[in-house]
Amino acid sequence: MDTVVYPARLIRTMDPAVPTAEAVAVRGDRIRAVGTVEELMEYPHARLDRRYEDAVLLPGFVEAHSHAGTGTVWQDVYVGMLDRTDPEGRFWPGCTTVDEVLDRLCRAADELPDAETPLLGWGLDPLHLGGAPLAAAELDQVSDVRPIHVMHANAHLCAVNSATMRRFGIDSGTDVPGVITDDRGEPTGVLQEFEAMALVGELLEGRGPLTIDATALRRFGQAAVNTGTTTLTDLGTTRLMDDDGVALYRDVVDESYPARLSVFHFGAGVGDPSRPLPEAAARLGELAGTNTDRLRFGHAKLMLDGSIQSFTARLMEPGYYGDQPNGMWNVTAEEYYEAFAAFHRAGALIHVHCNGDEATELFLDTLEAVLTEHPRPDHRHTCTHSQMTTPSQYRRMAALGACANVFANHIWAWGDQHLDITLGPDRARRMNAAATAIASGVPISLHSDSPVTPLGPLATVKHAATRLTMSGRVMGQRERISVQQGLEAMTVGAAHMLKMDHEVGAIRPGMYADFAVLEQDPLDVPPEDLGDVPVRGTVVGGAHHAAAGDSHL
Ligand SMILES: [Zn+2]
Repeated sequence: MDTVVYPARLIRTMDPAVPTAEAVAVRGDRIRAVGTVEELMEYPHARLDRRYEDAVLLPGFVEAHSHAGTGTVWQDVYVGMLDRTDPEGRFWPGCTTVDEVLDRLCRAADELPDAETPLLGWGLDPLHLGGAPLAAAELDQVSDVRPIHVMHANAHLCAVNSATMRRFGIDSGTDVPGVITDDRGEPTGVLQEFEAMALVGELLEGRGPLTIDATALRRFGQAAVNTGTTTLTDLGTTRLMDDDGVALYRDVVDESYPARLSVFHFGAGVGDPSRPLPEAAARLGELAGTNTDRLRFGHAKLMLDGSIQSFTARLMEPGYYGDQPNGMWNVTAEEYYEAFAAFHRAGALIHVHCNGDEATELFLDTLEAVLTEHPRPDHRHTCTHSQMTTPSQYRRMAALGACANVFANHIWAWGDQHLDITLGPDRARRMNAAATAIASGVPISLHSDSPVTPLGPLATVKHAATRLTMSGRVMGQRERISVQQGLEAMTVGAAHMLKMDHEVGAIRPGMYADFAVLEQDPLDVPPEDLGDVPVRGTVVGGAHHAAAGDSHL
């Protein structure tokens, strides 16, 4: 077999022993050697390939918290405030006022075949629209006959119109937590968290952000290529307990799929808990036995609280800035303990959604109790989002051997709202405390939670390094990390918390030949410009993939 030698303008390896190199040699799907062209051409059957001669190569980025729904959401109408680009490279400008949201929904409704077809939107965030309400009263201006369902950006809330409430019998007699009512006790059309949203779930007919099909998985893969990402996660699926769901992943994520995909089973808080936990855990173990180099099963995701920007995250003292009531749990502490213990005993890796510090506290209490009963070395259980984790919680996390996946994109996407509305300036500047985590010895990564915020590891590093909000304020200068630390978090750090760091996340001999192909050196641009570094594409297991709209490869 040939050894292909790729010279590059620069290679940043994320391997501390040899941090930079001029060339990398690839044999089959693995890295054979790193060094000078002269050295590498001495290997048996060496052959030179100059296609990356003027590019900068990094290890392919690893996104440890994303959702395959990244490929699903674009079939619905985007009404978020951020400008976004879909996986095919189409630009969607943000909606900055309620009128713009309603106008875009009206235009989309005109395209639908008849008056019964539901109109589905996504990406909404009322806080981004100055806190203006957007519920049934507003959506009825688009139509009070056609069912309308608009998912919030955080996927923890949705807004529906009167026609939708009529269809599903939601009225003043509906006694379900999370169905928001007005002063007169009438539902407003805002549904908070998963139990309430499930009331209208049928409307999505397999189109919500947790729903996937082959097209969505392919689009998700293309989004990876566009952003230099070579390992993705689907962090929470309800499809692994049925054979059709597993077959879908297997059919699409084959040897030609342009990324590795680690699929986590939603073990509590979302989905149908009808299958007994020990059986679900055993099935994950069986599925892990069928893993391929591209497709990984065997891990579990547990959902604890809601989101900070919708006031559904669970906070410890002193609570929300405006003394708003504390948030919501998606599971009881007992259900959570049972699920955690079952998956832990079965050997699964567990990532737990914790936005508020009270959720982090429950994560740590549960982890300590489970480890006391059932010690397991090197478990790498992960607190994901970890937005409000305090210094004392980080010290405890280190002592318990846990990892933190920090939601750096939040600093930019909702930082202004956290400073002014949800947490106030004092605690906002302590949020997503990557520097404290590193200083405490906790292994970290950074994430996008795509489609909640755009997939794009370089932009994610920018947010952790600059801590700039959308309006340009610095939110907590002391929690900035260096660009090098950010790049390590998005490569070897994320690979570590997926238990893949012996295979991906660094350019060194024996690892998979997974590279991000960049136009510029990320350490040679101002940190605030990192998100604009052009990505030509990726290499996955030695195979070349071009970003949408890129003709270089
Ligand atoms: Zn998520």
